[in-house]
Amino acid sequence: MAGEVKGWCPGARRPMESGDGLILRLRPHGGRLTPDQAQALADLAETYGDGAIELSARAHPHLRGVRPEVLPEIHRILARHGLLDAEADMEARRNILVAPLWRAEDHALEMAAALEAALGEAPPLPAKFGFALDLGPQAILGGASADIRIERSPEGLILRAEGMALGEPVSAEEAPAKALALAHWFAENRGEAGRMARLIGSGLRPPLAAAQTPLTAAPPGLGPQAPGFHLAFPFGRVEAEALRSLARAPLRLTPWRSAVVEGLREAPDIPGLILDPLDPLLRVSACVGAPGCASAEGATRDLARSLAALVPQGARLHVSGCAKGCAHPRPAEATLLARPDGRFDFIRDGSAKAPPHLTGLASAEIPAILRGSFAPSL
Ligand code: SF4
Repeated sequence: MAGEVKGWCPGARRPMESGDGLILRLRPHGGRLTPDQAQALADLAETYGDGAIELSARAHPHLRGVRPEVLPEIHRILARHGLLDAEADMEARRNILVAPLWRAEDHALEMAAALEAALGEAPPLPAKFGFALDLGPQAILGGASADIRIERSPEGLILRAEGMALGEPVSAEEAPAKALALAHWFAENRGEAGRMARLIGSGLRPPLAAAQTPLTAAPPGLGPQAPGFHLAFPFGRVEAEALRSLARAPLRLTPWRSAVVEGLREAPDIPGLILDPLDPLLRVSACVGAPGCASAEGATRDLARSLAALVPQGARLHVSGCAKGCAHPRPAEATLLARPDGRFDFIRDGSAKAPPHLTGLASAEIPAILRGSFAPSL
């Protein structure tokens, strides 16, 4: 039972095989790690993993490099800390993203728990199908992947299907049940569509009294925020020691490979974190690449780190180990795609799947290409 089962999103119960061992993807309840849970993950990463936790674009922490024979012990520890579902299919359904700037009066954790309970009655859904609870003062998760959203509008909460501009006004009490009903509608009508936006794009409309737009805002910058201090992890990776140092307060995990440390007002003095909103590392994305991923054609992160200073504010460089583009599935101003011959293809204004603009670049040629690419129009 160690490998990934096709059609299911990998989790702690169904780990995924990779080049450096198993990956366990965890789904902390409410998108939040308590200090005990964060300490436990740091210990697990050090004892059984590759020494770090990686955070996905769905705010799911990963343990990497795990040997199959230690899974029972890891499961025992995860269960003791409330980080393991009883069954793999329930774990796979709990794709719930919680916006990190929620206030006590938003009752975000309570709604996340109610939605989790409701998902016990959910129909079979595609592996990537997910929910966003965007309950803070404004909806900030618009750029993050989700199919059903509960958001703030000027009038109160709304339930919105991804792909629709308007949502139906709902109370906090009725929102989880109505979200589940919308998931049922999707499952009954989806045909070949794997995501809500595609179904809505085909012209079908769910039975929602859609009347209000969400009150949207950009994702929060790094630094002090109302609930605590917002800091980021280079390429989503936080070493066990840094995680242990951070784990003096609850951590709200974000889809931007960052976390809000509750109650913290000042930048912590911990190596290996991104604290400056102008840090060039915020402008680059790179998957684990070789040798960590079995699909990778080459190494990625050292190159991305070395090129970060060439990327101007507002632009993004994505270095990908293969065309799957896990670290940044959307288009970027510049994408470098590793090739089996140790060189890279260059894609301008596209995703890792797009046709390359230049092919077969040696690493030494890339800085000049990037300077030229970014200079005139960005
Ligand atoms: S993009 Fe390719 S190489 Fe990178 S992590 Fe995903 S599958 Fe592996």
